[in-house]
Amino acid sequence: MAIDCIFCKIIKGESPAIFVYKDEYMVVFHNIKPSAPIHVLMVPIEHIESVNSLEERHSEVISKMMLKAKEIARSLGISDSGYKLIINVGRGGGQVVFHLHIHLIGGWEKL
Ligand code: 5GP
Ligand code: ZN
Repeated sequence: MAIDCIFCKIIKGESPAIFVYKDEYMVVFHNIKPSAPIHVLMVPIEHIESVNSLEERHSEVISKMMLKAKEIARSLGISDSGYKLIINVGRGGGQVVFHLHIHLIGGWEKL
């Protein structure tokens, strides 16, 4: 856990968030400033700064997150209409919160 990390605070319950899923690997909660009708953030419990910080030992959590993404999309009702999974990496890549996360974004139209 990193002391000044907003996502670590959310994970510890020290900052509020609207959760849609939690397990021993990750939490998923609604983005405070959604950029689409549905915009949730999938965040590993472990404080990993970015994709650049990933190590071999993170393979399990990363694969769990990727597999969970389709389940979350289905539970949010956007599985068939489609969605985006986005990971911003580094400042130049648009990363603002330096705790790795996947943006799951969709809900523009129901097909
Ligand atoms: P990044 O640009 O780092 O990929 O995305 C960070 C995201 O975290 C942004 O979309 C921003 O709206 C979201 N965010 C930042 N602070 C908070 C917060 O305190 N609560 C929630 N739910 N989302 C946050
Ligand atoms: Zn963190």
